[in-house]
Amino acid sequence: MAQPKEEKTKVLIVEDEVAIVTLLRYNLEKEGFTVFSTGDGEEAVKMVKDHRPDIIVLDWMLPGMTGIEVCKQIRWNQDVKNTPIIMLSARGEEGDRIRGLDSGADDYMVKPFSPPELISRIRAVFRRIRPSLSEKTLEFSGIILDLTSHKATRDGAEVHLSPTEFGLLRYMMEHPGRVFSREQLLDAVWGHDIYVELRTVDVHIRRLRRALDYDGKQPDLVRTVRSAGYALEENPGGVNYTNPDQSEAD
Ligand code: CA
Repeated sequence: MAQPKEEKTKVLIVEDEVAIVTLLRYNLEKEGFTVFSTGDGEEAVKMVKDHRPDIIVLDWMLPGMTGIEVCKQIRWNQDVKNTPIIMLSARGEEGDRIRGLDSGADDYMVKPFSPPELISRIRAVFRRIRPSLSEKTLEFSGIILDLTSHKATRDGAEVHLSPTEFGLLRYMMEHPGRVFSREQLLDAVWGHDIYVELRTVDVHIRRLRRALDYDGKQPDLVRTVRSAGYALEENPGGVNYTNPDQSEAD
């Protein structure tokens, strides 16, 4: 993905380990990103509001406010809630990854990692949120995706989606009724040049369902196809799929 020449992509690194910040800064700047950083969670939240980074690389373990808390605060803030976040952590247990993603992160990387891998994940996040120039909106069963402003509405009500859920819904709306395996969704939405666990798809599908059910009364349009994957359907079998994958993450 080419970086826009006039306006450099701004990356905020939130990390208290100076050696990691130095390494990331060097590699990101070499790739043409503008980098700023802090090792403090509260300052990070303030910097996000003041400087509007295009993406945040956020360490979980910070002195004081944790990365998880920083992530939640950003997601709660109307002005900056759509900023993509890649969470870093020494914790590699699956439960931790899911907790990281559930707090609102778009991706999760376990330390130690290589800077080139982080850079390809940053680019994958941008690929997910950047619409192709030809189409402007997508519609399905009362849901409208505005691909230019990245806004989603359902029956006129605004639906709040993270960049990853937006990409997932967009892909499914481009192929309504078709059943996609987790592998297909990963390839289409995350890109096939990075490794992501299949269960990550389930986490984001659950978040997508939750977001689409903005008032707790909406029919679920995402059908879980056992041992196959997911499909977007007008009437998924007439069954109430309010929370079919409840057991999958908690
Ligand atoms: Ca740390």
